[in-house]
Amino acid sequence: MTLRAGLLAASLLPLLGACASAPSPGSNSNTDSVAGAGSNLAAAAAVTATTAALAPCAADPDWHQPTQPRRIHGNSWYVGTCGLSAVLITSDEGHVLIDGATEKAAPLIEANIRKLGVDPRRIRYLLNSHEHNDHAGGLAHLQRASGATVVARAPAVEALKTGKTDRGDPQYLSVSPFPPVAAVQVIGDGETLRLGPIALTAHATPGHTPGGTSWTWRACDEAGVCRAIAYADSLTPISDEVYRYSDETAHPGVVAAFRRSIETVAALPCDILVTPHPNASDLLARLDAPSPQGKSGSNDCRAYAATGAGKLEARLAKERASAP
Ligand SMILES: [Zn+2]
Repeated sequence: MTLRAGLLAASLLPLLGACASAPSPGSNSNTDSVAGAGSNLAAAAAVTATTAALAPCAADPDWHQPTQPRRIHGNSWYVGTCGLSAVLITSDEGHVLIDGATEKAAPLIEANIRKLGVDPRRIRYLLNSHEHNDHAGGLAHLQRASGATVVARAPAVEALKTGKTDRGDPQYLSVSPFPPVAAVQVIGDGETLRLGPIALTAHATPGHTPGGTSWTWRACDEAGVCRAIAYADSLTPISDEVYRYSDETAHPGVVAAFRRSIETVAALPCDILVTPHPNASDLLARLDAPSPQGKSGSNDCRAYAATGAGKLEARLAKERASAP
């Protein structure tokens, strides 16, 4: 009971379900501590140990402040930092990681994956929300650690392979380059990536960048409770000093595509919303909530989309006011 009390004290109640349950199917042949929907005491103890060692995330979190891994639901785990999200989805047939944060944060993500007892070499696919340094910069490190294939929508591929965006990126003149990745597999809008029991659907959500992608999947726990998880990409219109979203001559259709992305995010299956920056949706506080119901609001994706819509319309109004 000491371990259980420790877990409760650490607000990691969801892990209890894993500890109390039978080992996951196939766990005999599996070298990872966390696989499928299951977990084990070693992984839980490791998470508890790191909880004690790390300071709580600041209100305005630093990208590179480490934080302990957290269970999102079932086989899905938050393995990012205080300021940059990364999500590990585990199965007995290999794992998937969404986002690599920055080059500097990638070792913190790798460490969090190891804290869960997961061998990074069993990660088969690396996915990305969008082709910017703060979410793609660590993919090269994580690709070296895992040997995994990066999966992205076509408009993101060139940036991921070169580490540089082009003028299609609203922030082209202001973003930092990042280490390029090697193997990139293309996935289309609405297509599903499968790995054993894992099925992840890609949703085209361009606007913040041309390659912006949101990912949805279903995670079930040992009790058979399933939740739809949505990793919804950034919907923030930010640019360098030159770019104008409303310049239909330079880049026709961008505003219409951005509005469609906002509608797409609003309609995603979304029991639990994950955002590339956790503070954009109060994610870590939701994951630390004492009950699984505390992880989700009833319309988190719709609220997140509404915030994005408000920012886009404000940005367009500003562009109109300063029209040349
Ligand atoms: Zn970005």
